[in-house]
Amino acid sequence: MTSLDRSALDARRPPEAQRPAGETSNKRRDEPGRSEAPRALLLIKSSEIRRWGPRWLRRAGFEAEIAGDVAEALDRVDTQEPAVVIVEAGLRDPARVWALEGIQRRIHGRGIPIMALCRGDREIQRALDAEVADVVRHPVDWRLLLHRIHVARRRVETRRHLAEAHRRLDRALDVVGQTHDLSYGTPDRDRLTELPGREAFLALADRALAAGGGGTAVLVVAIDRFDAVNEALGREGGDQVLASVGRAMRGVLSNRGWLPASSGGLATAALARLSGVHFGVVTTHAGGAEGASRVAHQLLSELCEPIEGGGQTVHLVGSAGAALHPNDGDTAEQLVRHAEAALVEARRLGGGILRFYCSSLNEGTTRKLAIDRMLRTALRKNQLEVHYQPLVEFHTGRIVGAEALVRWRHPDHGLIQPQEFIPVAEETGLMAEISNHTLDVATRQLREWRDQGFDDLGMAVNLSLCQFRQGDLVRRVRDAIVTNGLRPESLELEISERGVLSGDLEIIEVLRALKELGVRLSLDDFGTGDSSISYLKDFPVDSLKIDKSFVAGALDNNSDSAITSAMADIGRRLSLRIIAEGIETDHQLELLKGMGCHQFQGFLFSPAVASQEFRRLLSVSDPTHELGRTLPFPRRSR
Ligand code: C2E
Ligand code: MG
Ligand code: MG
Repeated sequence: MTSLDRSALDARRPPEAQRPAGETSNKRRDEPGRSEAPRALLLIKSSEIRRWGPRWLRRAGFEAEIAGDVAEALDRVDTQEPAVVIVEAGLRDPARVWALEGIQRRIHGRGIPIMALCRGDREIQRALDAEVADVVRHPVDWRLLLHRIHVARRRVETRRHLAEAHRRLDRALDVVGQTHDLSYGTPDRDRLTELPGREAFLALADRALAAGGGGTAVLVVAIDRFDAVNEALGREGGDQVLASVGRAMRGVLSNRGWLPASSGGLATAALARLSGVHFGVVTTHAGGAEGASRVAHQLLSELCEPIEGGGQTVHLVGSAGAALHPNDGDTAEQLVRHAEAALVEARRLGGGILRFYCSSLNEGTTRKLAIDRMLRTALRKNQLEVHYQPLVEFHTGRIVGAEALVRWRHPDHGLIQPQEFIPVAEETGLMAEISNHTLDVATRQLREWRDQGFDDLGMAVNLSLCQFRQGDLVRRVRDAIVTNGLRPESLELEISERGVLSGDLEIIEVLRALKELGVRLSLDDFGTGDSSISYLKDFPVDSLKIDKSFVAGALDNNSDSAITSAMADIGRRLSLRIIAEGIETDHQLELLKGMGCHQFQGFLFSPAVASQEFRRLLSVSDPTHELGRTLPFPRRSR
C-alpha cells in the first residue's frame, strides 16, 4: 500500500535500491554505452541534489546529466535534446536568474519543460515569472518532483497530439462527404429518447475515430441519484424525465452546431443513450480535452435546469467522465470503458463534476479501495486512537481546551498521521464514521477530565464534509452532549475551509441547527480558502483558527505578517475568539500574542498526545505564570 509505505517519508533521500557504488552521473551524449533513455539536464549547486538526484532520475527511467555551469547548461540545451531541465533557482544570485531566463528563451517552443527548485516564496515567484513549467520547494521531495515532471511531459505530449488532431481535422473537412451524418440512419435506436443505443454509439464513435483521429473524445454523462426521481414520480414519470433529458441534451449540442439538426449537415458529434441514466457523446471537432470539457460543462449545466416529467418539475444533477483518443484508448470500446471509469471517479468525489480518465485511475482506485478496506478493519479492531493537542490561553499560559485529532495505530506500520489516510477516507465516505468515532471518544474523555476537576476545559472536534452528507450530524452531536452530561458550550466543532466548506453542500442550515444546540463553531484553517471573509459574514461562527501556514510565514514574510494581523483584526472586530495554529517558536508566540490572538496551539507547547499524557500536562499547566516572561512550557520532542 504505497501511501502507507514508510519509505514515502524518505523521498528526500536516495532510493535504497539505487545505490550502486562509484556511479558517475554526468555521462556525455557521445560516451560509449550511452542509453537511449530520455535525458534530464540538471543545473544544480547543492551537493546533496547533485549526489542523489541522478539516482532518483535514473530510477524513473531518465539519463541524468549535470551541467557544470550556466554556459555548459546553455550549450547542452542547444546541442542536445533534453526531455526536461531541472534548475536550482537560487534566485538571489543574478547569474542564476539569467540562467533560468536564458534557458527558457533557448528552449521556447521546443516542448522541453523546466522544473525549478526553489527556496521560499520569492524564488517561487521569480521562477514563475520566468514561465517555468513547474516549481518544487527545497528540500526536494523526489517522488513529488518526478510526478510533476511526468505531468509536465504529458502536457507537452497532449499539446503535440492536439496540433496533430487539428491537422487531421483539416484533412477530414476536405473529405466531408465521407464523414457526413454520423448520427442518423443507424438501426440501433433507443425508443424512449429516440437516440442511438450503445451498439450504434460504438459504431459511430469508431467511424469518428477513423475520420477524425487524434483529438476525438468520448464523454459519458450520467444523472446522479436518479432513484430519488423514480421514487418520487414512479417508473413512468422517471421515463418521461429521461426522455426530456435526452431532448435537452440534443438541444444543447444542436444549438451550438455540435450536432447536425438535419442529416444534411456535417456531423461533428454524436449523442446516444448508452444505458439507464448514462448518455454518451463523441466529439470530433471540439479540440481534444478543452473541447470535450466545454461540451461536458454545457451538458452538465443544462442538466441543472428545471426539467419537466411526470407532471412535475424536477431538478437534477449530473456527472461526466471523459476519455481522449489516442492517449486513453485506440478503440471506441476502450474509450467508452475509460470514460465510464472516470465517471465513477467523478461520482466518488461527490458528483456534479467532470473527470478525465488518466491511466493511474484504475491503479489509484484499487489502492484507495485497499486503504478503505484496511481502515474499516481498523475501525472494527479499535486501531483508531484519539490524541489531544492543548489549546493554550495567551494571556495566562493555561491549557483551556484540547483539540481531538485522530491517529491510526497500525499493527505493522506504527502510528499513522491523519494526512496519510484522511484524504482517502474523505473520498470513499468513510470519514463520516471516523469523525463520528472521534466525536464520541473525545466527548467521553471530556466528561472524564471534567469529573477529575478540570471544570472549565473545552474540547474541539473537527467535522468532515462526509458527516454533513450523511444527514444525521445534529442528532449525533446532541446525543454526545446528552449522554456525557456536557454543557453544550464546552464543545467546539471545527469546520475547515479546505474540507467542509470546499464542498458544494448547503451546510448553513445544519450549522444553524448545531448553533441552536448551544455548541460553539470555529472556522478552521482560516485564510486558506477562496472566500474566507464571506464565510465570516454568512456562517454563525464563534472562533477563527488562523492557519499555521500564515503563522509560519508571519516572521519573515511581510505580506503573511500583514495578512495574519488583518485576519486577527477582523476577527476581533466581529467579537470572535482568535486562535493561532502551529506556534513553533518563541518569536511566533510573541508576534501572534502582539496581534491580539486569544489562544494558540503548536509544537512549542505540545503536539497532540495520548490522553494520559494530556492529563499530565493539565496538572502542570500553571495559571500563575505570564506567558512570554518565564515560558513555563513543558517542551517536548516531536
Ligand atoms: P487541523 O484541524 O488544522 O489540526 C491541526 C493540525 O496541525 C494537526 O495535524 C496538528 O498536529 C498540526 N499542528 C499542531 N501544531 C503544529 C505546529 O506547531 N506545527 C505544525 N507543523 N503542525 C502543527 P494532524 O493531527 O496531522 O491533523 C491534520 C488534519 O486532519 C487536521 O487539521 C484536521 O483537519 C484533520 N483531522 C484530524 N483528526 C480528525 C478527525 O478526527 N476528524 C476530522 N474530520 N478531521 C480530522
Ligand atoms: Mg482543526
Ligand atoms: Mg487547522
